[in-house]
Amino acid sequence: MLLREVEYAKPGSVAEALELLASNDGARALAGGQTLINVMKARAASPDMLVDLNGLEELRGIELAGDGTLTIGAMTTYSELMASAEAKARPILGEVCATIADVQVRNRGTIGGNLCSNDPTNHLPPLMVAVGARMTIAGAGGEREVPAEEFFLGVYLTAVGPGELLTRIAIPAGKKDGFAAVTLGAEGTCICNAAASVNGGVRVALGCVDAVPVLLTVDGPGAVADAVRAANLMPPSDVHASSEYRIHLSEVLATRAAEEAAAR
Ligand SMILES: Cc1cc2nc3c(=O)[nH]c(=O)nc-3n(C[C@H](O)[C@H](O)[C@H](O)COP(=O)(O)OP(=O)(O)OC[C@H]3O[C@@H](n4cnc5c(N)ncnc54)[C@H](O)[C@@H]3O)c2cc1C
Repeated sequence: MLLREVEYAKPGSVAEALELLASNDGARALAGGQTLINVMKARAASPDMLVDLNGLEELRGIELAGDGTLTIGAMTTYSELMASAEAKARPILGEVCATIADVQVRNRGTIGGNLCSNDPTNHLPPLMVAVGARMTIAGAGGEREVPAEEFFLGVYLTAVGPGELLTRIAIPAGKKDGFAAVTLGAEGTCICNAAASVNGGVRVALGCVDAVPVLLTVDGPGAVADAVRAANLMPPSDVHASSEYRIHLSEVLATRAAEEAAAR
């Protein structure tokens, strides 16, 4: 289906982008377009103006600090994360990005777009929660930092408010991470996924079982299955999986992700 008519703006700075978003009620940020353009074609979203972030170098790039913290610009693509020498400091990032969809989506899709769309089947929201990422959000009042577990608020809803932008994501040092998913086909959408990190404490986050990633309270690497059971999950049923099957997958995948993390 063709797009309905929409105004298009290509700002030259983050400040200009924020001004355009704040002064136009119907404006939406355009990143890789791999979700937004599709939902516009399906008439599920009808912004009046697209504010294209693709010219903003301020939102690109991956920096590795002396303490191992990675700072990733929101407009960094999956392919850039896979190829980056700096991002190898946290190898799970490139590994998970390599499993998202196909080459075209990986070349266009951005970490910021993935997180801001907060589709519950996306790969990156549970991963960011497990690794303890911190998101920087910019708006008219300046910048604020939000931990990943407070960033996702509901299906397609995040802490990024009207007139705001996610500008960068900070990920602390650590290599002991794991990710496991059951997908529709080799590069398909997740039916259920789990991310784990055992750098210090154990952090396990589940995807596809609720509107936002579910961060489990885990007593130790051997207690992951117990933690999934204690979470009393009530995932949705759909054509791909029943609620009961998703509960079963959560236990299997969380255990698998935690074992992968612990073995590194
Ligand atoms: C065929 C296909 C298969 C896919 N399979 C998967 C999959 O298996 N796993 C997966 O995780 N994803 C999958 N995706 C989704 C893909 O990863 C998208 O790239 C991603 O969800 C959105 O990123 P984007 O950069 O394209 O954002 P866009 O589509 O441009 O934007 C998405 C939303 O985020 C907002 N936004 C974007 N950037 C910012 C920002 N910096 N600040 C504030 N708001 C912002 C936009 O306004 C919009 O509402 C698939 C997509 C396609 C087309």
